[in-house]
Formats: sequence, C-alpha cells, structure tokens
Amino acid sequence: MRAPLVIGNWKMHGTLVEARALAAGIRDGLKRPRGVQVAVCPPFTALAAVSEILAGTPIQLGAQTCHHEAAGAHTGEISPPMLAELGCRWVLVGHSERRKEIGESDELINRKLRAVLANGMTPVLCVGETSDERRQGLTFTTVEGQLRAGLAGLGADEIAKTILAYEPVWAIGTGVNATPQQAQDAHAFVRKRVGQLCGEAAAKALVIQYGGSVKADNAATLLGQPDVDGALVGGASLKADDFLAIVRAGIR
Ligand code: PEP
Repeated sequence: MRAPLVIGNWKMHGTLVEARALAAGIRDGLKRPRGVQVAVCPPFTALAAVSEILAGTPIQLGAQTCHHEAAGAHTGEISPPMLAELGCRWVLVGHSERRKEIGESDELINRKLRAVLANGMTPVLCVGETSDERRQGLTFTTVEGQLRAGLAGLGADEIAKTILAYEPVWAIGTGVNATPQQAQDAHAFVRKRVGQLCGEAAAKALVIQYGGSVKADNAATLLGQPDVDGALVGGASLKADDFLAIVRAGIR
C-alpha cells in the first residue's frame, strides 16, 4: 500500500519568528502520525531553525527548489548537498510558480531532479496544465510532455524513487480546486504514463500528490480518490490547524 504524503509548501512566507511558531504548532499537534507521511518546505532562511524544532519528530524537512550543481559560481543559489546537510529529505522541482516566474525549463527541471536523487534526497516533480490548456483539451498532452521531459534519461529505479505532484496551474492559490473526479482522472493518467517508463509494479507504488487549493474542508474528498496519495499544500499549510486537518484527511 502507498503511504500518502502531505507536504506544506510555505513559499516565500515566514520570518524566523513566524517559521519557528508554525513548525512548533505542527509538531505539537501531530505526535504520532500513522498512515501518512508529513513534511514541510520552509523558505531557505528558515530551514535550519525549523530543522531544530522538528528534530526527533516524524515530520520531515523539505526544500522548495535547488540548483542542479553541487557547488560553483552561481550567485544566490543553493545546492543539493547544502540541503542534504541541513537534513532535507524532499526537494520540490518544477513548481509552476518557478516555471512561470523564473522561466525554469523542462530540461533544467530534469537536471535538478537528477541532482536531488544523486544527493540522496527525494524529488517531488510538479506537473500540471494551465487553464488555457485545459480549455483547449490539452491537459493530458501538457502533463505527458512535462513527465517525459522531467523524467528523461532516468532509470526505472530512479523514477520509482521520485514523487509526482499533479498541480493544475489554474488551481494553485486561486481557491478553485480541481474536482475530485478531475484530480482522479489526471492521477490515473500520470500513473499509467509513468508506468510505461518504470513498469507497472513500480507505478502502482508511486506516490502522486494533488496540489491546488487544498483546504481543510475539501481535503477528505480529494485525498479519498484511489490514485490521489496525499497533497502538496500551499496557502493552507501556513496555519498549523488547517495543515493538521489536511494531514488527518490524508491518513489511509
Ligand atoms: C502549491 O504551492 O503547490 C499549492 C498547491 O498552493 P495552494 O495550496 O495555495 O493552491
């Protein structure tokens, strides 16, 4: 059985004081999560502080992105070994905000994904269509293209170590979530396509998160879909109680 994974993506929110308080609130409200994996991705500046607060708890640490090289003349960047040193276990790659705002290409995302794996962490590859693409009936074409490019050159064993996150761009931060059926259809598609790359057995074990306006009041139906294995949560992960309610909805 797949262990669902709920990740809080704090984006560019949280001074140290705020990040510490949020991490402590999540820690205190979640003593022994069973049947669900939980992680938070604070801003880089708060990783060390949050790591201290979560030490010894089952709540894991993740990062929102990274550079694809281990070191070098890349002003302002953070490398995978730096994240691993801080105790990060997960790294988001290909988030639509970075694709759009920073112009991250599929090719760059693929390099980052490989670098995360090479440094012993787990990449969370985000894919999803824009509202225009959905309107034009291109949802699956877009998602398939991002999957193929993002996972290009990876062996079946490496793909099996990767987490997928289906995040329709039109649902991120808009308050308009995908319907449970839309999410299920996309997740089943992702599982099938990735299965062609890594084999059916590995595809069955693959964790595919849904992301896009997941809230405490819609989490149970979204996360109750057979191919939806937890959530990548933005806005609602910034309040401990809301995030904890989503985590509980993810338990299988
Ligand atoms: C996200 O940032 O990945 C996300 C899904 O954001 P939100 O939950 O705010 O839509």
